[in-house]
Amino acid sequence: MGANRSAQEARALEKRLGGRSKGGRSLRRRLAFAASTALSELIVRMIEIFVALAVTLFAFVPVLLARLALRLPAGKPVFSKRTVFGQSGKPLTLLSFDALSGELATLPWFLELFTGRLALAGTAIRDWQPAAAPEQGYISMVKPGIISLWNVRQSTRIAHEGREATEWEYIFSKHPLYDFLLILRALPALLFSEKEASPSPIFELLDLKIDNITMHEAVRMIYQALEQKRQSAIFFVNPDCMNQSVTDHDYRKALMAADHILPDGIGLVIAGKMLGTPLRENINGTDMLPFLSTMAADEKYSIFLLGGKPKVAEMAADTIAQNYGVTIAGAMHGYFDRETESAKVIEEINNSKASILLVAFGAPLQEKWIVRHRAELRPTILMGVGGLFDFYSGNIQRAPRWMREIGLEWVYRILQEPGRMWKRYVIGNPLFLYRVMKWRVFSRSTNH
Ligand code: UDP
Repeated sequence: MGANRSAQEARALEKRLGGRSKGGRSLRRRLAFAASTALSELIVRMIEIFVALAVTLFAFVPVLLARLALRLPAGKPVFSKRTVFGQSGKPLTLLSFDALSGELATLPWFLELFTGRLALAGTAIRDWQPAAAPEQGYISMVKPGIISLWNVRQSTRIAHEGREATEWEYIFSKHPLYDFLLILRALPALLFSEKEASPSPIFELLDLKIDNITMHEAVRMIYQALEQKRQSAIFFVNPDCMNQSVTDHDYRKALMAADHILPDGIGLVIAGKMLGTPLRENINGTDMLPFLSTMAADEKYSIFLLGGKPKVAEMAADTIAQNYGVTIAGAMHGYFDRETESAKVIEEINNSKASILLVAFGAPLQEKWIVRHRAELRPTILMGVGGLFDFYSGNIQRAPRWMREIGLEWVYRILQEPGRMWKRYVIGNPLFLYRVMKWRVFSRSTNH
């Protein structure tokens, strides 16, 4: 983050935390503001004490007794210590249950709700490093919380903006109601939570090799391919794609011919967990586009949009150019005769001198088309992006962020287009999980 932006954010934060100072406001309004702030803080404290009491009685004490009985006779410690950033950037020592993993280990943290050194919802808990103290700076003005926006987004692997930007987003949104909704979102997040993502760079699923990388790494990999003029076909797969790859052999061949396959959606995150290869991030075209466009704008690479209904690609192109300042080399709908008109379309793409081609015919059409024509296509990056232009043209609304945070984007898609989507998700999701389990038991055990 640039020094300028930090200073601006710091000023805005001071204003926010201190209320709007001087002039303009009558004393009465200021008093009312102070009273409502004090009241909501009091309510938050009461909720925290209530939660701390409930967790202590029903979870902490039973686990403590069990751990004492198990560990003390063996001469092993019951607790381990961890030093983290507390409020105002000061070191704070937290106790966890030694040699326990997951949520159980962190039960003693709830005792800190009584002391007020931790909040229920706050900034993410981060290990204390003296060298990182200045950088933690203003973030530390807000109390660290057992639940944080960063952890909620991490659990569904959509924290693409990185920790610092996510913390700022939280700080600027912070409000008792926001915290309450964040706590609700943290409950389903427990299902997906995984402390550490697997270091394995490849996630093997139903015999396909999927890249296990972060959004930042994916965009960097695209940048490197562009710099080296190394033509790369990049496809995304969601559970529906994986299902289709089992029954459609041409699609499967197309996926196998890809240079990179990227994991799209909560279904893949769950599969990663089931197979012991937790995914680093959930990478889908819609989330990637802002990062990709910003990189392309900075590095002067242009994009061609092919696909979607007439006018949709053009409308998406306008939005992308306006929002990210990237050069759009061309835009064209995806309803042409692929047998007789592909040559003309390819000529138009090549003449545009685009470096990145986004093809949005939906899977598996787009992947098959790209693989079939890749030798004739000049752009370096060839990506299949599904319904992406529909979202960016405003044609179809994307699920709100909170739904994506709890892994329910697919429910929103069903509600939007029940006729087309119910089969894909209601039947497709369980079928996908069944196939993953079957693959885990049979094929994988014979291969490994
Ligand atoms: N589409 C197209 N040409 C076709 C069929 C579909 O351009 O012959 C477009 C369609 O307008 C939509 C996209 O492909 O914008 C498919 O969207 P969908 O949500 O089905 O794709 P997914 O992301 O699920 O692969």
